[in-house]
Amino acid sequence: ERIISANLMMEDQAVELSLRPRYLAEYIGQTQVKENLKVFIEAAKLRKEALDHVLLYGPPGLGKTTLSNIIANELGVNLRTTSGPAIERPGDLAALLTNLQEGDVLFIDEIHRLHRSVEEVLYPAMEDFALDIMIGKGPSARSVRLDLPPFTLIGATTRAGLLSAPLRDRFGVVSRLEFYTVDELAFIVSRAAEILGVSVIGEAAQEIAMRSRGTPRIANRLLKRVRDFAQVRNDGIVTHELARSALGLIQVDPLGLDSIDHKMLRAMMTIYRGGPVGLDTIAATIGEESQTIEDVYEPYLMQIGFLQRTPRGRMVTPLAYRHLGLPVPQQAGG
Ligand code: ADP
Repeated sequence: ERIISANLMMEDQAVELSLRPRYLAEYIGQTQVKENLKVFIEAAKLRKEALDHVLLYGPPGLGKTTLSNIIANELGVNLRTTSGPAIERPGDLAALLTNLQEGDVLFIDEIHRLHRSVEEVLYPAMEDFALDIMIGKGPSARSVRLDLPPFTLIGATTRAGLLSAPLRDRFGVVSRLEFYTVDELAFIVSRAAEILGVSVIGEAAQEIAMRSRGTPRIANRLLKRVRDFAQVRNDGIVTHELARSALGLIQVDPLGLDSIDHKMLRAMMTIYRGGPVGLDTIAATIGEESQTIEDVYEPYLMQIGFLQRTPRGRMVTPLAYRHLGLPVPQQAGG
């Protein structure tokens, strides 16, 4: 697994639990989303109603799970957590729903991967707080409607485009999480350092932030790695110089690109003359899955203006040529 992967890895789990902000006030960045949620949460509490269903989407590691925990905390209700692929049968979802208490939050991660038959149980549950169950078989079968306590569904997905329209339409609040700025990430790194008891001084937090691909999960992971170098080589103190050399040693460049990003961009430049080149071709060339490139690596490369998507395929931009120190060809995109 790549160190700059935004996907959750085993090594992240323990640390993430301790670093996860618990209330909106501790949740850095995502100002627009936060402001809106603050109002909706307040209003739901005033009316003593369940909060509207919330859909959170955006690349992995940006804080969707964290935000769901925070919403439940702020509402003062229980949070039940599951994921699309974990709910195998309609009965599994029915069991989850009937165990909710009034106002609870049910969090479904990777909601785009829900089975269609499971999704159909969700529609009346979301809309009418009701569960339709079939009793009996064959011609005598009939459907019975059970009432559910009012609850809030929070769905998270990296691929909002894969959600069916009927499901998407049942969310009252739809929020897209954005990549974080370097300043926001530096703040997250400083906060994490404090919790982990590491001293990160001078520009070190900024240096780690710049290489974190706009993603808090990566920022926390890089901090952990840098801490190891600091403990072994610098009495546990992360100076700017130490951060820079440690990140260089683990091959994360000043913009957060690793050797595979370099390999991909370089292949596009040298073999395909900067593109346009199809995603599958790129994937085959560097031996990664198209899906992973599209969901996890490409969004950041597009964000920093290194890649463009065109109807005929992906193109590298002059910025990317300059970053890799290669001459910009006459026709390069951008
Ligand atoms: P996602 O569900 O989008 O994949 P997570 O919510 O699991 O992402 O976030 C990964 C980690 O990043 C969290 O454990 C937390 O430590 C950190 N994190 C995410 N968002 C924020 C934020 N806004 N402020 C501070 N830390 C954050």
